[in-house]
Amino acid sequence: MDLEFTPEERAFRDEVRRFIQDNLPASLAEKTRRNIHLDKADIVAWHRILHARGWSAPNWPKQYGGPGWTPVQRYIFDEECAAADAPPLSPFGVSMVGPVIYTFGSEAQKQKYLPRILNMEDWWCQGYSEPGSGSDLASLRTRAESDGDHYVVNGHKIWTTQAHFANMMFCLVRTDPHAKPQEGISFLLIDMTTPGITVRPIISIDEGHGVNEVFLDNVRVPKQNLIGQEGKGWTYAKFLLGNERTTIAEVATSKQRLKRLKEIARAERAFGAPLLDEPAFRDKVAAIEIDLLALEYTNLRVLAAESAGKALGPEVSMLKIRGSEIQQGITELACEALGYYAAPYERRPDGSNQPPVGPDYAQGRMEAFLYNRATTIYGGSNEIQRNIIAKMVLGL
Ligand SMILES: Cc1cc2nc3c(=O)[nH]c(=O)nc-3n(C[C@H](O)[C@H](O)[C@H](O)COP(=O)(O)OP(=O)(O)OC[C@H]3O[C@@H](n4cnc5c(N)ncnc54)[C@H](O)[C@@H]3O)c2cc1C
Repeated sequence: MDLEFTPEERAFRDEVRRFIQDNLPASLAEKTRRNIHLDKADIVAWHRILHARGWSAPNWPKQYGGPGWTPVQRYIFDEECAAADAPPLSPFGVSMVGPVIYTFGSEAQKQKYLPRILNMEDWWCQGYSEPGSGSDLASLRTRAESDGDHYVVNGHKIWTTQAHFANMMFCLVRTDPHAKPQEGISFLLIDMTTPGITVRPIISIDEGHGVNEVFLDNVRVPKQNLIGQEGKGWTYAKFLLGNERTTIAEVATSKQRLKRLKEIARAERAFGAPLLDEPAFRDKVAAIEIDLLALEYTNLRVLAAESAGKALGPEVSMLKIRGSEIQQGITELACEALGYYAAPYERRPDGSNQPPVGPDYAQGRMEAFLYNRATTIYGGSNEIQRNIIAKMVLGL
């Protein structure tokens, strides 16, 4: 594997960096840097700026309106975005359902939905998990019964991220209750404005509203919204989860957060000197930096294999486990470095004129710590990823 960037890749990095410098609104970068809650308009605004440059779907081939980048170019793009504090793109359209639609969807579905993902006319959410069906997803019970040229959907989805922003949901439903669990599942695209859908917020430990329950009560969905074949939804769902887990490694975001952690530890003092010079704390920062570097190289190895045309396998689970643990570790150390300044945790509305408690760099750190408890759960919990490695790699 060649880990040196080529001259073309270095030129590409410069091009991306310049574009972000010229086009990322300072207010959005500031919000991201301070971990202030980003609303729908913020994320749509940045998405559309990238769309105007043809970069809103970094992972898509040219044929469908993406930039046709190599995995290495995508990696460089992610790094530059994170380093400039660009808001994260919503993954549900671009990274998740978009590739499912262009790989398995009908021509009509491609024509209809792909342009609307590219310009973010549609905001998608993911309706997989149900109460009692998370890790054991194949046990899901949301039922879709055939009624002429429609399905009638009844069920209850949970942990549906950004369902309150979404006008579309890709949803796993049971179309055949008599088939083996995996074989009776289908993949439906559901318009969230259809009568019978109720979205109820779940407030998480960071006091934020990111996740929801979605109730489906006799929701009529046209059969033309079925992806691929009826009963083959599990195949499409697994394809999508593979993509989700590679993005979950979040190397670029962790690098930026590590940089911020060091800034905090340089500013905070212990025994009259910067905390970063205190040997015990310095050891902890060094250990996590080494872990992150190792993850970065593992990620680059996976990208090199992908560039060489290899299909991704259980190594994706490895990225997910280490990536999520490192994210948690860094946010935990930031709170440790802040000491009591991390404690007066305030969810500050945008535009608040109240002075924050503690230094500027303390803002948003506790929220990040609390929310990041979820990284080892979503996208398939780390225990489940370990099971996959045990089975597929170790042959246990
Ligand atoms: C912040 C957040 C956002 C999310 N967003 C979405 C979303 O947008 N759409 C969506 O569909 N879902 C979403 N999820 C749901 C997520 O995918 C599930 O929470 C996850 O798959 C775990 O399922 P569960 O919560 O039902 O826990 P359970 O499956 O009940 O697991 C409970 C515990 O038991 C462990 N466990 C379960 N089975 C095994 C086993 N066989 N071996 C070893 N350990 C096991 C798990 O690791 C976990 O620790 C989100 C979750 C969170 C926290």
